Amino acid sequence: MAFASPISPSCSLHNLSSNPFSKHNKILILNKIQPFSLSHGHPFFRVDCGSRWQGKDSLNYSLSSFVTSADILLDEAVEKTQLPKGDTWSIHKFGGTCVGTSERIRNVADIIVKDESERKLVVVSAMSKVTDMMYDLIDRAQSRDDSYVTALDAVLEKHKLTALDLLEGDDLANFLSRLHQDINNLKAMLRAISIAGHATESFSDFVVGHGELWSAQLLSAVVRKNGLDCTCMDTREVLVVNPTSSNQVDPDYMESGRRLEKWYSHNPCNTIVATGFIASTPQNIPTTLKRDGSDFSAAILGALFRARQVTIWTDVDGVYSADPRKVSEAVILKKLSYQEAWEMSYFGANVLHPRTIIPVMVYDIPIVIRNIFNLSARGTMICRPAGCENENGQRMESPVKGFATIDNLALVNVEGTGMAGVPGTASDIFGAVRDAGANVIMISQASSEHSVCFAVPEKEVNAVAAALEARFRQALDAGRLSQIAVIPNCSILAAVGQKMASTPGVSATLFNALAKANINVRAIAQGCSEYNITVVIKREDCIRALQAVHSRFYLSRTTIAMGIIGPGLIGGTLLDQLRDQAAVLKEKFNIDLRVLGITGSRTMFLSNTGIDLSIWRDLLREKGEKADMQKFVQHVHGNHSIPNTVLVDCTADSYVASYYHDWLRQGLHVITPNKKANSGPLEQYLKLRALQRQSYTHYFYEATVGAGLPIVSTLQGLLETGDKILRIEGIFSGTLSYIFNNFVGTRAFSEAVKEAKEAGYTEPDPRDDLSGTDVARKVIILARESGLKLELSDIPVQSLVPEPLKASGSAEEFLLQLPQFDEDMAERRQEAEAAGEVLRYVGVVDVVNQKGTVELRRYKKEHPFAQLSGSDNIIAFTTQRYEKQPLIVRGPGAGAEVTAGGVFSDILRLASYLGAPS
Ligand code: ADP
Ligand code: ASP
Ligand code: MG
Repeated sequence: MAFASPISPSCSLHNLSSNPFSKHNKILILNKIQPFSLSHGHPFFRVDCGSRWQGKDSLNYSLSSFVTSADILLDEAVEKTQLPKGDTWSIHKFGGTCVGTSERIRNVADIIVKDESERKLVVVSAMSKVTDMMYDLIDRAQSRDDSYVTALDAVLEKHKLTALDLLEGDDLANFLSRLHQDINNLKAMLRAISIAGHATESFSDFVVGHGELWSAQLLSAVVRKNGLDCTCMDTREVLVVNPTSSNQVDPDYMESGRRLEKWYSHNPCNTIVATGFIASTPQNIPTTLKRDGSDFSAAILGALFRARQVTIWTDVDGVYSADPRKVSEAVILKKLSYQEAWEMSYFGANVLHPRTIIPVMVYDIPIVIRNIFNLSARGTMICRPAGCENENGQRMESPVKGFATIDNLALVNVEGTGMAGVPGTASDIFGAVRDAGANVIMISQASSEHSVCFAVPEKEVNAVAAALEARFRQALDAGRLSQIAVIPNCSILAAVGQKMASTPGVSATLFNALAKANINVRAIAQGCSEYNITVVIKREDCIRALQAVHSRFYLSRTTIAMGIIGPGLIGGTLLDQLRDQAAVLKEKFNIDLRVLGITGSRTMFLSNTGIDLSIWRDLLREKGEKADMQKFVQHVHGNHSIPNTVLVDCTADSYVASYYHDWLRQGLHVITPNKKANSGPLEQYLKLRALQRQSYTHYFYEATVGAGLPIVSTLQGLLETGDKILRIEGIFSGTLSYIFNNFVGTRAFSEAVKEAKEAGYTEPDPRDDLSGTDVARKVIILARESGLKLELSDIPVQSLVPEPLKASGSAEEFLLQLPQFDEDMAERRQEAEAAGEVLRYVGVVDVVNQKGTVELRRYKKEHPFAQLSGSDNIIAFTTQRYEKQPLIVRGPGAGAEVTAGGVFSDILRLASYLGAPS
């Protein structure tokens, strides 16, 4: 059922007044409608669609309204069929997306039919996008753009097609005839708007409300078709609201209650489909509850019916901890208090209209938000906090329940020394703002009273600034006020949670998260209810800020975004280790390591939330994109929902190492087994270390020496605790350790090399090991760590590659020719053996004499260096504290597993530096 259009299609312009519901218009349409009065002294008119749309109840009503005066009739009816208020009623509200297509309307009808509540009232929004289309019609007409005609045709077409799909026979014919009639009326009205070049608010409200009229008619017809007796309520007959100055309306509950009783007495039914969004003024002028107002309609009706529950059906599983479109990791909140829901919606969580809360809260009616597309989700229950606290399904540990944002704001700052101690300044400021018709969203005043700042919608800020300047002209001229400044392009970020009250540290955590994401806070407000902390930030920072604070309160305590560079032997093993250990780290240690990118030299694979490490090889192979270091780093670091980022360089590449300085400067932590940076040019190394010390970014490289053995950290530990390093001597090459451990008895040197290669201990070309350069790099790393300023070229290196073979051919050729030189090495071994000694290839950092060497040395058979097996490394630190007996670290010092393990333990060290429990 719907009201007739106030303008007959045939009316001429002369009949129009600025009020579309003036007596003139009513008289014009008298021939089309039947008069009846809804309330004393306010004649109202409705099309008699009742008999067509609503079966016998409406028919009776229409007939009786003919017989007698409406008021007498209604008073009798109240006595006859009193509205049964209370728990027997369930209210459902279906949002636009729920009724967006004919299929969805059928689905909604199905849910209504299956709902076992004794009585139900269903509030329905316009089909999705329809309200926007209706507002657009008005915009076009107002700007005298004739395309409103075709735009209106599109509206007609959309509803016609939906009806054709849903209805048949009389139902269809009735709907279509009504639709055409409405469209014709709208066309006339839009034409009038177009000629006038202006639409009053009541014109506009009248036009836009049609979406709800049509969707309610369609839905009620389908419900009836499915066998459930059902009445359609045009809420303009029932809900009475008073307009306010701030684009809001205030319900008149008394009058609405009276009208509801009357309406029900004529339409007694256990299933009612009601239009959302629309209502009437006390003067019976159609109006709306303003954008997204259908939730509010449902809540008002819920209160009027004293319903058991109001269920708001929408397209998400409930209220999320943040807008799911902005924070992909937002979680569903199982329960919210009325206060929390109000704060969330007020600050921009548009899943619920902010004014929905008040009417139901008065009667303790719970609101449940549910997803029509996922019936298995239980949704969010909004109720009194006591009920919420008993529920243990909720994540109670976070004092902040959710975050919401409002964009398109401007901050106004009124500043001046003349404000302090002057009573009435705030009142004057906000009086001027009120006169400008602006809505103040938040206010902040420092206790020095030197400035008052507040946020208003950006579109209202010019008027506000002008009003303030006019109001304070004298104060500005006299210098009592120094300025009225407007800061445009702002957003509000609000953290909401009832448990924030009296929980210390919440704002510290919030501001810490914002600081880490490099976000500047321009204004702050916290009400003394402590349910909400509001910060004003730059609009462009808004999503980043939202993600950063959300992750700080909702993710595991230490979440690290990781980029793995070089998924070869070591990188690949590391990824597998991360895969195997991730769950334990998360559960036991609260460490959440997310690999957001893996890049090789040719291909990379990126993910926003974390790569599934059980299939990382397939993802890289099949879904990888062209490697691009800049894009890679930007992606891994750009994820601001994760406050910490580490890049793990598992290559042996100096090109990758050349980026470290830049990365550290940008605040990215770097972890690597790659020796190139620390053994490269001294100046670059010093710059890198200086930067590391200045900033809070970390650079760990334990696996550059001795793979997973604690060499660098042992050395750092000694130095940091004040020990003096005298000498570091060690077997740093697992390969050369293996070769000399097996170069015994009658075995030739070349045989030992071949065996090492076959066992997989050498580089593809064993000369890379035998040359000693790798050992020299480790020596230089430890030398520099000990404070020596040496270049790689300062280290004399005894190469074990015979001079003639240095440049010759392939690795295979080298191995073929190596036996020719066995004799020389055999002789050295013999000499050593004769002296009761063994040969060992060692690196030495002579800190006392500030030099380093890499050479083949002889050690007594009892010396720890002579006792090694396999590919063990051994490193002896001779220090002031460990002078007589050096501190020795020994163990397997080569191989992908242990090297990756060393890198992994650096990652965990980073996590503990960043706050993970030890
Ligand atoms: P309807 O048309 O059903 O009234 P709305 O578009 O008004 O739906 O509201 C639902 C939308 O609100 C969701 O699709 C979601 O994108 C958005 N939204 C914003 N903030 C939140 C939040 N905190 N929780 C859930 N949804 C949110
Ligand atoms: N259809 C109206 C709007 O889009 C009301 C609502 O859906 O809540 O604003
Ligand atoms: Mg909504």
